[in-house]
Amino acid sequence: MRATIGRFAPSPTGPLHAGSLLAAVASYCEARAAGGQWLVRIEDLDPPREVPGASSLILHQLEAFGFEWDGEVRYQSRRHEAYEAALSALQKQGLLFWCRCSRTDLARLPSPAYPGTCREFTLPRPDAAIRLRVSDSIRCFTDALFGSQQESVRNTVGDFVLKRRDGLYAYQLAVVVDDADQGITQVVRGSDLLDNTARQIVLQQMLGVPTPDYMHLPLIVNTDGNKLSKQTFAKALPLTGCTTLLLQTLHHLRQKPPARLQAEQPSTVLAWAVANWQRHRIGTDPIPFSEGY
Ligand code: GLU
Repeated sequence: MRATIGRFAPSPTGPLHAGSLLAAVASYCEARAAGGQWLVRIEDLDPPREVPGASSLILHQLEAFGFEWDGEVRYQSRRHEAYEAALSALQKQGLLFWCRCSRTDLARLPSPAYPGTCREFTLPRPDAAIRLRVSDSIRCFTDALFGSQQESVRNTVGDFVLKRRDGLYAYQLAVVVDDADQGITQVVRGSDLLDNTARQIVLQQMLGVPTPDYMHLPLIVNTDGNKLSKQTFAKALPLTGCTTLLLQTLHHLRQKPPARLQAEQPSTVLAWAVANWQRHRIGTDPIPFSEGY
């Protein structure tokens, strides 16, 4: 059996919020309860969307909540060579093409799936996005909470972008290259990314790297029923009072922490959570949350 390696991979587009804490706690407990490693990766792929200071604030927040990660934190901004190497491996297989369709061109089309317009441009050309040629097979996988999933990527999104026209690497490429390079065996993250998984599996298969196990967590929704996110102005996690918030997060994950933990340090609460982790309790229903801190 392969040793478990899990990860938490925030984008530094703002500080962590209650939704990120849910993913951090669940990925940590899944990895540690299996006696495995837990890595932290900062997905700083998109400088214009980055908030200055967010990367270091995220690490401080994780420390305040008692998380301990294995090894050095990885920064995707330092991984461009690896992403280029993956692109050239794909190009050698004839799987890439260079696309100059604009967003407006594509938005006018009836189907959201890319129609294959630029497929004939199989050699690099300037001012073009790089897309992956996707075949029409159906990808199936089993999510640990959401169960059996299947998707024809060709029909849902079509040939997807790996490097944007502005030169930035796409999340799909970077996440697959780094999950493989870091030997990640389990991905635990929010269910807003459930429909990205089939694309990632397509890419893993084309690059000949293993597919990790996937667990997508129920969404945390605010009192209006909207997903808690940076876009809906979710509040930053505080650096004090972390024990209370951790206990609340464990309740959201339907674990049953005893009241006595209220008097403990965050690291003690996390140690309890790892020792008593019961993934089957989590379920898939959205979690209502009011940000009372
Ligand atoms: N960086 C992504 C985010 O913050 C998460 C990526 C992942 O876990 O695959 O939403």
